[in-house]
Amino acid sequence: MENVPFLQAISISKLYTGDISSGVKNIDLNIKSGIITAIIGQSGSGKSTLLRLLYGLLSPDEGTVQFNGERIWGPEEKLIPGHDEMKMVTQHTDDLNLYARVWDNVAVMLPNTNVKIKEEKTDLILTQLNMQHLAKKRVADLSGGEKQRVAIARAIITQPKILLLDEPFNQVDASFREGLQHDIREIVKQTGLTVIMVSHDPAEVLSMADELLVLQDGEITEAGHPKLVYQTPKQLYTASLLANCNILSAEEALLCGITTHKETVVIYPEWIRINPALKTNNWVISQILFKGFYEDIILENRDVILRIINYENDKYKAGDEVALEIKRWLEY
Ligand code: ADP
Ligand code: MG
Repeated sequence: MENVPFLQAISISKLYTGDISSGVKNIDLNIKSGIITAIIGQSGSGKSTLLRLLYGLLSPDEGTVQFNGERIWGPEEKLIPGHDEMKMVTQHTDDLNLYARVWDNVAVMLPNTNVKIKEEKTDLILTQLNMQHLAKKRVADLSGGEKQRVAIARAIITQPKILLLDEPFNQVDASFREGLQHDIREIVKQTGLTVIMVSHDPAEVLSMADELLVLQDGEITEAGHPKLVYQTPKQLYTASLLANCNILSAEEALLCGITTHKETVVIYPEWIRINPALKTNNWVISQILFKGFYEDIILENRDVILRIINYENDKYKAGDEVALEIKRWLEY
């Protein structure tokens, strides 16, 4: 049985009528068990459609989805849509009981057959998701991020094999998001839960994923470890999704000392630094944006504008003429 793939999509397509460019096309996927797979793509690239196909909320026009070798049936074939061993959390998860306490909202997911186990499991999941302090609060009184935690707790407590997350941290503020991401990672490590998440936001996926897939116009165009995909994206689309990068034409790249036969040069902000040792001061600082422990510096050279990151706050000021050292770039 060892060779049976865990969750597999075999050439699945789902096109919405009237618009051949929407939906997903010919997707082959092999989701590994016990890790976090993240799918990143622009808005409208088909992320939610793909997730719903994997879960069985939608039926593919062509192809099949198989879980442990067994076909997942869509809503036409199955009375209660959605696979029993999976749970999905979206940003619009709205089946919470707003007027009940957090603890009850989570506990209600378990049967009453053994009240002691029910209590233990509820306490455990609240601990794992760092929300014991919320246990007695009414859901109505929680922040958006806290409600998301409750939704995730409700999903995980039933011990699904797969947790599907559709842009789950969208409305969770950054400081809160990191904590929640860390807690989910820990649960994956401890329990072997499989997570599949989709998002358009690199901050959501890069720190979470063990495996990253890129979805473009309904097709998977790139896959690999997030570090590898980030450092060596095969396409311009991927680079511009993952990094807040500088995108230059070949002609503009010449001003950076880069000669290429390709059309486009991409330079990540962290690949450029100001180097006073180089005396070619042909860049002028036009703006410095304070970001806390670092600055974004905007530089101009004729019509070309570059954005770089500077960790030595207040070292430069607008109007300074500086030389740039470009350590790496990508060509497309
Ligand atoms: P994402 O989640 O990446 O934003 P979706 O999977 O929601 O993308 O949608 C992919 C494309 O399919 C979009 O162009 C969207 O407008 C279209 N689409 C999604 N759902 C439907 C539907 N029920 N009917 C028609 N078109 C749809
Ligand atoms: Mg979506």
